[in-house]
Amino acid sequence: MIRVTLIAGGVGGAKMAEGLAALDNVELSIIGNVADDAQFHGLWVSPDIDTMLYTLSGRINREQGWGVADEGQRALNVLEELGAPVWMFLGDKDFGLHIYRTERLNNGDKPSAITHDIATAFGIKSSILLPTDDTIQTQIRTSDGWISFQEYFVRERCAPKVLEIKYDGIETARITDASIDALKNADLIVIAPSNPLVSILPILNIEGMREAIISAPAPVIGVSPIIAGKVVKGPADKMLSSTGHRADCVGVANIYKGLAQHFVIDDQDGALAGEIASLGIQPHTTDILMPDASNKMRLATEILTLFEASKGRAA
Ligand code: GDP
Ligand code: CA
Repeated sequence: MIRVTLIAGGVGGAKMAEGLAALDNVELSIIGNVADDAQFHGLWVSPDIDTMLYTLSGRINREQGWGVADEGQRALNVLEELGAPVWMFLGDKDFGLHIYRTERLNNGDKPSAITHDIATAFGIKSSILLPTDDTIQTQIRTSDGWISFQEYFVRERCAPKVLEIKYDGIETARITDASIDALKNADLIVIAPSNPLVSILPILNIEGMREAIISAPAPVIGVSPIIAGKVVKGPADKMLSSTGHRADCVGVANIYKGLAQHFVIDDQDGALAGEIASLGIQPHTTDILMPDASNKMRLATEILTLFEASKGRAA
């Protein structure tokens, strides 16, 4: 078995997780993002972790990439009738999960233990780990001031220009022992094609995380979320350029400089491979779009082949 530890956000991260989890010779641990977490109607919602839980348990709404399939909105309709703000879509089945999580948090249980129990109850074989049990919340500065990530992403539909990003609580957040162990014991560490600024950095910037990755014996392979200067979905490209990064695979690779030894980019970006190499990161080109199960498995298999080849070279 090859022990793979995946550092991942929501939709892009879950696609990569699905591909890796589908391989018979992979034992997968996922370190997910908690910095999108927010409270709605008194309940704690953890969008990226929930996307991972719903995807790996086969409940995900495939058209959207998030939320539960065959979902209803009766609960949300009642909230709307009562005058509550309902810009964050929460389906009826989804509410069940948030009620469960919130009750256990109120009882003093740790977020990581709650996530583990939900994953087990949902029949998920991979380990879904939290990078911290402390609260980290991404905040976005726009011309109107600071707003929470969900306000930017869902309520404002990513329309305002992102001037600055901060991760409230990250300075004091403590890394979980489980994520340190998953990095230490990994044969391979993969950074998913997730939004580098709001999915991956709020994990990497937790004290001790970079050190744990660097000191781990496993090679680190990143996958670009950007193809030909465009995201597959979401605001990562415009967030990168408005915060002073290059909005292409080189800009993303640059964020993982010093951490990743390999970076997988799309065939369409072959001309940028030299620039990635000059960052001290080995570029690899292939088709990195994962529209369906077979492409997820294909990309996951190619990453393992790359890992085997890199081992061969190291030996
Ligand atoms: P979020 O938390 O739900 O926004 O999801 P992530 O941060 O995990 O992923 C968002 C990123 O995934 C976006 O920048 C997309 O471009 C990227 N993405 C989505 N689907 C694919 C895909 O099939 N291939 C690649 N390479 N990137 C993808
Ligand atoms: Ca997210």
